[in-house]
Formats: sequence, C-alpha cells, structure tokens
Amino acid sequence: MGICGKSRGWRGGVFLLPPRPDTAEHPVCSTRAPARLHIPLAQDRETAATPLVEPGHTVKPGTLLAESPDGNGRVHSPVAGVVRGVIHVDTPYRQHVPAVQVESAPPGQQEVPAGVPHTGDWPAAAELVSLAIAHGVILPDAAAVARAGAVNRIIVNGMDTAPRQTVNVRTLADHVEPLMLAAARLHAALRAQRTDVVVSRTRPDLAAVLRGLCPGRPFRVRAMMNRYPQAHPHLLVAALTGCEVPIHGSPLDCGAWVIDAVTLWNLYGAVASGSPVAWHTITLLGDAVLTPGNYRVPVGLTVRQVVERAGLAATPQRIVAGGWLNGVTVAGGNVVLTRTTRCLTVQSRSGRRPPPAACIRCGACLEACPVGLDPRALYDRAEQNRFDRAERLHPRACLDCGLCDYVCPSSLPLMRGVQWCCEHVRSG
Ligand code: SF4
Ligand code: SF4
Repeated sequence: MGICGKSRGWRGGVFLLPPRPDTAEHPVCSTRAPARLHIPLAQDRETAATPLVEPGHTVKPGTLLAESPDGNGRVHSPVAGVVRGVIHVDTPYRQHVPAVQVESAPPGQQEVPAGVPHTGDWPAAAELVSLAIAHGVILPDAAAVARAGAVNRIIVNGMDTAPRQTVNVRTLADHVEPLMLAAARLHAALRAQRTDVVVSRTRPDLAAVLRGLCPGRPFRVRAMMNRYPQAHPHLLVAALTGCEVPIHGSPLDCGAWVIDAVTLWNLYGAVASGSPVAWHTITLLGDAVLTPGNYRVPVGLTVRQVVERAGLAATPQRIVAGGWLNGVTVAGGNVVLTRTTRCLTVQSRSGRRPPPAACIRCGACLEACPVGLDPRALYDRAEQNRFDRAERLHPRACLDCGLCDYVCPSSLPLMRGVQWCCEHVRSG
C-alpha cells in the first residue's frame, strides 16, 4: 500500500482558473519548417541516441537519424534536406546534447514518403509495442505492456497534466473519430477488460461528441473534475479504480495503463499510416505571446523559432518549458525544444517570487499535496542535510506537481527540497 491510505480517490489538489484566452478553443495551427533544424538526440534526461547519418547525407521526412544502443530511442527527420553535421545544443532539460543539423529542402520538395500502413485489427501487444518503438512513439511502461495480459484496463487521458496546457484536449477534439477508432483497436490488441476515455467536466461539448461515438464500441466516457493535478496517471488510476499506485510502482501495478491523447494519436499514425513521430504539438501561451494557441512544429526548433510562430506582444522576460507550476525556466532563445516539451509560457514579467521567509506553520503545503507528503518536513531535511531521515517521509512518492511551492505563503522552494531528498534516497 502507498501512503495515501485505502480511501478511493485522493485528497489535496487545487482548482486552478482556466487559461485566458483559452488555447483549446481553436484547432492546432500548422507551421512550416525553417531553413535549418537542430534535432536533439535526447528528448529528456536519458542517454543520447547514436547518429546513423553523416554530413552530406540526404534525408526525407521520416528518415531514421539516430538510434539508442538498446534500440528503444529512435529519432527521425521531420523534413527533407541535407545533413550538415552533428553539433551540441542545450535543451530545457540538459546542456550539451548532440543534435543532427539538417538543412531543409525547399517547400516543393518536402513530399512525405508513404509509410507501411497496417490495415484492420491492430497486432497483439508485443508486436504493437515493437512497431511503436520503431516509429519513435514513446509509450509509458512499454516493456511491461508488451507482455500479453499485462493490461486489464486502459485509460485514455484527454486531460492535460499541466495547468494551462491544452495539447491533449485539443488533439482529442481535432481527431476525435480516428482516436476513438484507435482506442477500440487498442482495447482489442491488448485484450483489455475495460477502456475509459477521460475528459474534463469543463468540456461538456467534447464529452457529448465522445459519448455519441460509444455505441458499439468497447469504451466508456468519463467526465471528471479537473482538480490539479488530477490528470497525473497515478491520480487518474486512484480516482477511477480506487487502487493506489505503490510508491515505486506504475499504474500497471493496478492493472491499468494510462495513455494520453497525444501518444494515442502518435500510435495511430505509426500503425495506420506507418508515420514516425517527428513533429509535435505545443501550447504557446503567456502575456508576451501575441496569438496564444496550439502549434504543430517540427522537432528541432529553438525557443525563439517557436515563439516567432505565435508572434510577440511584449519583450519576454521569462520563458518556462512545461507546466507553469513545475516547469523549467529556459535559459535563452537558442535552447532547442524536444518533442517532450508540450507547453511554453512566455511572460513579459520576470515572475520572481518574493525571497523565501520562515515557515509560518500554516499547513497549506500539507493540505495541498495530492499524495499526502509533508513537503515542509522534507524541505527541512534537505536544508539540514539530514537525508538519512528523509526516507521514512517517502519523498519518492512526489509527483513533481509544484503545488506545495504554489500555495506556500513564505515562498519556500519546497518542491526542490523534496526532489533533493528524492535524489539522495534513490542514490543512497
Ligand atoms: S511537488 Fe511533490 S511534495 Fe509538492 S505537492 Fe506535489 S506531490 Fe506533494
Ligand atoms: S505552506 Fe509554507 S509556510 Fe505553510 S506550512 Fe508549508 S512550508 Fe510552512
């Protein structure tokens, strides 16, 4: 059992105001690739993939550029063009990441070669997971899902894990019919007992469309209160199944597999048309952005190039990649985004919090923490270097949601303290 107790659902969390303007209101905008792209060979903090191309090689959209030694990380070219070399770039998550530099061919020469489509029913679990990996789709718990019978219940997440990010909800709204076909095929391929499609209660229009597609299909639509961070896979499982994901575990420990709408769309592209993942959708917002919204961009754009797509209403002072409560502050316009970056908040103010002050023991962090941690106590352990006394406070249960920082009236960097404890406990 984890630390939240046996009660169904979870405690804590906060209702956050919806984004204004609502970036989910309009369909995703398509954009063109720039003349030169720097395609990072590591998406997050993992080891970089090994390049398979050399300077002078011509590539087409979907050409495999790099592969990790274990074959699980694959990077494809989003454009047709010529490889100019491998350089090093900074991403929001790591510095000095190798990146393949590709000079794009003119727009008239960007024809996408036809992939190998898989018609009819989807292949069984193991083959489906291999196919996903071959096309660069990052599936959660891929190795475990490949085992037949591992998934009892599929949860298709149509909510966004970060506040103000709307990539998932917009992807679901833009591709509702193919995504529901994909959900039905996935249900059969994994031999699931049950599939739930989850949307926020603030989207009754979308829930109604989805329910209209339910008859004859093996899934149910669940409209849920989106109390942040409800869309986190662990909390979705807690709310829908009453099962608490163990501290070091995954939703599969409860027999549930959570796949978000964007990943399901990528998987659908890989299976139905043989298309590798080389473009991604990003929510662009913040008071310095002229036209906030969701943009489809090639992998390998810099922050500056992405922001130019939406135009600037003011000089940016602070740019955050990821959720505005728990994201990473970007060091400059030349930082290259990876396809795991789903949200970019561009602000005209520095947004600096007041300097940290002494804890006033208000208990707000305890009340807000969705997994029942004591962020203040963990922060104290980190401050005092008493990591030996941190383990019993279960820092590894932290979901990195950032709520403790958000609610703290003393501006204490609580989440960072919890993360420090987590890193020491993991390595200790
Ligand atoms: S960041 Fe971690 S400790 Fe802080 S509220 Fe979220 S889950 Fe709790
Ligand atoms: S929210 Fe901040 S001030 Fe209140 S108890 Fe937690 S650490 Fe202390």
